[in-house]
Amino acid sequence: MTADPTRLICPLTAATIEGMRSAMAQAAAHGADMAEIRLDFLDPPPTPQQVADLVEHCPLPAIVTHRTAAQGGRYRGDEAPRLAALHAAARAGAAYVDVESDVPPSQWPSGPVIVSQHDFARRPADLADILARMDRSGAAVNKVAFASAGPQDALAALEGIRACRKPTMAIAMGEHGVASRILARKFNAFGTFASLDDAWASAPGQPTLAEMRSLYRWDSIGPRTQVFGVIGCPVGHSMSPAIHNAAFAAAGLDAVYVPLRIEPGAEHFNRFMDALLERPWLDARGLSVTIPHKENALTYVGAENCDELSRRIGAINTITISPQGRLAGDNTDYAAAIDALCGAMGIARPALAGRTVAVLGAGGAARAIVAALAHYRAATTIYNRTASRGAAIAQEFSCRNAALDPASAIDAEIVINCTPVGMHPKTDASPISSIAPAVKVVFDTIYNPLDTLLLRHAAQQGCLVVRGIDMFVNQAVAQFETWTGTPAPRDVMRRVVLERLRA
Ligand code: NAP
Repeated sequence: MTADPTRLICPLTAATIEGMRSAMAQAAAHGADMAEIRLDFLDPPPTPQQVADLVEHCPLPAIVTHRTAAQGGRYRGDEAPRLAALHAAARAGAAYVDVESDVPPSQWPSGPVIVSQHDFARRPADLADILARMDRSGAAVNKVAFASAGPQDALAALEGIRACRKPTMAIAMGEHGVASRILARKFNAFGTFASLDDAWASAPGQPTLAEMRSLYRWDSIGPRTQVFGVIGCPVGHSMSPAIHNAAFAAAGLDAVYVPLRIEPGAEHFNRFMDALLERPWLDARGLSVTIPHKENALTYVGAENCDELSRRIGAINTITISPQGRLAGDNTDYAAAIDALCGAMGIARPALAGRTVAVLGAGGAARAIVAALAHYRAATTIYNRTASRGAAIAQEFSCRNAALDPASAIDAEIVINCTPVGMHPKTDASPISSIAPAVKVVFDTIYNPLDTLLLRHAAQQGCLVVRGIDMFVNQAVAQFETWTGTPAPRDVMRRVVLERLRA
């Protein structure tokens, strides 16, 4: 293990010598600890003199890499000039030269070497053996990078880092493996790659330097950092990492929150959860669960380990993991929605009894809200596009149902939209074309945009409007408090959502 903190390495993938020089300066200005000069991106391939000049002018310690096409790089020429360029880099004082594991050690440059192996198809079945071989080699640093099929591959990469004696990088590439890059610092990996911006990324799933430092709190990650994350598909645009990481920072907690993309299907969900629970050294303490895994999560955690309302809803959005690995499930959507509604109306929850409510939609969000409304004995009617789906929920929670017809007047005191109609990017749509005079309150669970077309119409008619952001912030606050047992910095969390929606 290296005593140095894990380095943020910025890959430089310019096609020209001038471009490389400019990128080096930018990498230094953006706070990278090292630069990786990707010679294979240069067109034409550089001469040994050009390589030496690049290394000597690099303002950061340089890793020099000249990756062949067979290893996922761009170099297609002969082996002799490729190795000559790497030797020139070592002679010029490169901090490290990256050499693929199929190059015989007799041909390695004389300076410090990173021995690397890449698999762009899958996680190698013999990952542990590959790393053990590297660990026994004469290289200074081990590096493996492989395509990931689920976040369990990121956990396997972190396990590989832990198992090595020497400084190691093990990277699960792609959106499924992002956690292997962020959590590398917790396990004192040699380094992790972070690009100048998305256009400069040298591998799929690579965050930018700015994301690492400001979104994922890179500098505060250490060996005791507790791990949280969001499970879903997709999760790339989830705002949860921004909200929860900002909240951890504001509360001064040693914790980080990462995206965990899991493909649809209980088998994928279960595979990841099994892999997580087999690795207590991850210090995983909590998970947000989003589409399409809320029902899978309840089944995995076990109804007996979930609160009563979650059991009635049949889905959870929050998993809490004890230090002993015991799981508990909650559904914070329920309380989040009801409190957003009651807070705006200035009433306590029991005052919902007898009020007429129209719920538009019969998906997961609608189900949680209908369960809450039933609990507080509101007079609810579900309006859904697919009538049979609405009817099934109506029967379960003893309320009425009807087909959702955008043209028909919905006669209820409170209207709650739980369909995605009007959500970004199709913001010129509304689930209903007019709002009946009897309607006094309109709650749109959509939070992007903040003010949907439905809410704008409602405000013009003098209705009280309730925005989806209030529900969204409420559920994140409830998750934070469930996991940490400390009051959530609500204002910070709300500000983060507003900043991101207005960006
Ligand atoms: P879901 O399970 O996929 O359900 C979507 C529902 O909307 C279904 O009933 C579906 O009807 C209906 N629907 C979809 N497209 C429609 C269309 N073009 N016209 C009419 N109805 C349509 O999704 P969900 O998890 O319930 O989420 C629904 C929405 O709630 C999301 O888009 C999100 O904006 C919002 N939400 C907000 C929060 C928050 O914190 N603010 C939290 C969760 C969800 P069918 O049954 O006919 O398919």
